Amino acid sequence: MNARDDVLVLGAGHNGLVCACYLAMSGLKVRILERRDIVGGACVTEEFHAGFRNSTTSYTVGLLDSEIIRDLKLFEHGLRIVPRPLANFFPLQDGESLSIYNDPKDTQREFNRFSENDASALPKFQAMVREICDVVIPQMHRPPPNKGTGIRGWIQTLETTREVMRLSIQRRRDLSKLFLSSIADLVGSWFENPHIQAAVAFDAVVGNFASLHASGTAYGLLHHTIGEIANQRGIWGHPIGGMGEITQAMLKQAEDIGVSVETNADIVEVCIENGKATGVVLADGSMRRARAIVANLAPQQLYLELIDRGSLEEDFIQNIENLRSESAVLRINVALSELPQFVCKPSDEIQDHHQSGIVIGPTLDYMESAYLEARTKDWSQEPVIEMLIPSTVDDSLAPTGQHVASLFCQYFPYNRDWDRDRERAADTVFKTIDRYVSNFSDSVIDRQILTPLDLERKFGLPRGDIFHLSHCPSQLWVNRPVFGHAAYRGPISCLYHCGAGSHPGGGVSGIPGKNSARQILRDL
Ligand SMILES: Cc1cc2nc3c(=O)[nH]c(=O)nc-3n(C[C@H](O)[C@H](O)[C@H](O)COP(=O)(O)OP(=O)(O)OC[C@H]3O[C@@H](n4cnc5c(N)ncnc54)[C@H](O)[C@@H]3O)c2cc1C
Repeated sequence: MNARDDVLVLGAGHNGLVCACYLAMSGLKVRILERRDIVGGACVTEEFHAGFRNSTTSYTVGLLDSEIIRDLKLFEHGLRIVPRPLANFFPLQDGESLSIYNDPKDTQREFNRFSENDASALPKFQAMVREICDVVIPQMHRPPPNKGTGIRGWIQTLETTREVMRLSIQRRRDLSKLFLSSIADLVGSWFENPHIQAAVAFDAVVGNFASLHASGTAYGLLHHTIGEIANQRGIWGHPIGGMGEITQAMLKQAEDIGVSVETNADIVEVCIENGKATGVVLADGSMRRARAIVANLAPQQLYLELIDRGSLEEDFIQNIENLRSESAVLRINVALSELPQFVCKPSDEIQDHHQSGIVIGPTLDYMESAYLEARTKDWSQEPVIEMLIPSTVDDSLAPTGQHVASLFCQYFPYNRDWDRDRERAADTVFKTIDRYVSNFSDSVIDRQILTPLDLERKFGLPRGDIFHLSHCPSQLWVNRPVFGHAAYRGPISCLYHCGAGSHPGGGVSGIPGKNSARQILRDL
């Protein structure tokens, strides 16, 4: 029994660590309880084959909030982020390829090879996204007006409305399209070349098991611009040592300021007494108590597995049961004996394209077929694949001359016998890559396959959803996780949310953890 903590944080994902740090920096006594033997949740680096380490699940950084980097002294604690020299590389079947550069002028030149119209549309499209981000991103750093935000919530709603009204009428139309349109309609209204359309749409496809023609899918584009690297928005990079170095730096800060961190602490119950959350019970039967409880784990796990149903209203439970969670992602880490040779750009030396986000997804039709196959058959026979080869920028991950690759593959739906089909699904992915990379399968030393079921079992991600909850309009902003409880306060007194299932959602941003801490500090 421990009666001295002010706050218990349930889960040591990066948002739990961020929340704990802000609370402790304000003088509260904080304890984090984590089920696994390492902290970091979906943001960890682990060895998966002797001598080969990789970011196990999340594999690239671009959303992390610069205020958090500064406040938690992440660079002082050893974090080093290397921006990609080339943002994305799309190998195409006919020996061609399309590159997206960090410098928009270079991308415009590249687009010009495919379509003059698209090259001239690009700066206008980027200006549109930039202007809208200037209004939307500040909202990501505020709690949505909701239960508990009181008069401040109303004032903030007025401020938000005023900021939106400052946009021109056309920009307000664009804003509504970015939230409500399908990604296919949005890119189709700006660009004509099928490869360029796919390249622009890709960010909106990541982790979202939805048709590219479904309303609301354009939002993914906005979500992928919420952070910045090297003072540039929308740029992606690699943390030296893998994604786990982000959470290891957060852990160092947490420990420096007195946060207690318990690993191998599997929470099996949240205790509710007289309508108040008062503590938790661990799998070994021990209890921890505190004045407030903050859940970093997913809302479904919190409310459907850890809290007695009798403590919650039936309506609320039904809302949680009906939440949509599914990314249909297969995540594979591969140990390679040599550098991948791209058919369209062969080279024995490491080049920029090896160090970029390499995407197999040449057209919107290809991506949509992958989606439809997954809905109607077992899974995509020609999946959309993002491949990173982080060992080309980081020699700490693999033995000299050998490499590790991260594969993020869509679509592989949750509902099947994954213990039976794991290897067969990975074979489909490798067969697809072999069409673009001549030596891929021949150079595989080992592979670690994480199916949607593995992501749920090992990392607690509901139905393998990489964002805890889908980023569909009905689950964003005031609706995340459930309308009435979007300002980080649950329906039970002293119970809060701080994970990806709360505003502004998933990705390694840390923003839910930071926003949540601010609300808790107002209450305690
Ligand atoms: C395959 C994959 C690829 C991704 N790629 C990227 C990417 O490249 N870039 C990016 O920005 N984002 C990426 N994401 C998304 C991002 O990683 C997540 O949205 C984010 O890490 C979630 O962080 P969190 O702290 O909110 O929750 P989590 O990281 O899920 O942390 C929750 C913690 O709670 C713990 N927990 C669960 N149950 C219990 C219990 N009963 N008792 C105690 N502890 C418990 C878990 O072990 C975990 O540590 C990816 C995610 C996945 C799965």
